[in-house]
Amino acid sequence: MRKLDDFPPDCPRIAVFLVRSFSTACSLCGEEAWLEEDSHETVLGYGPENGSPGCGARFVAIAEHHPHGGSFLEGLKTLRPDLPLLDLWLEARA
Ligand SMILES: [Zn+2]
Repeated sequence: MRKLDDFPPDCPRIAVFLVRSFSTACSLCGEEAWLEEDSHETVLGYGPENGSPGCGARFVAIAEHHPHGGSFLEGLKTLRPDLPLLDLWLEARA
């Protein structure tokens, strides 16, 4: 699990909260993320890293991990109304 200190100093300490059909991810470290956290403090998902500390990046937006569009995109607005919804899709960095 990569921590913020493992990334180059010029790497932004922010991340996009990525949403797949059945899981979520942090755009910076690629590990699964918890919808309830403002920063990536916990890896929460189905993988072996479940429950371990996240990379610590602060979530500043939410976006699709793969293109779904339509109602899926609309649904992201209700998942995290506090985060701006990016009308694009991103692959995680790691
Ligand atoms: Zn992360």
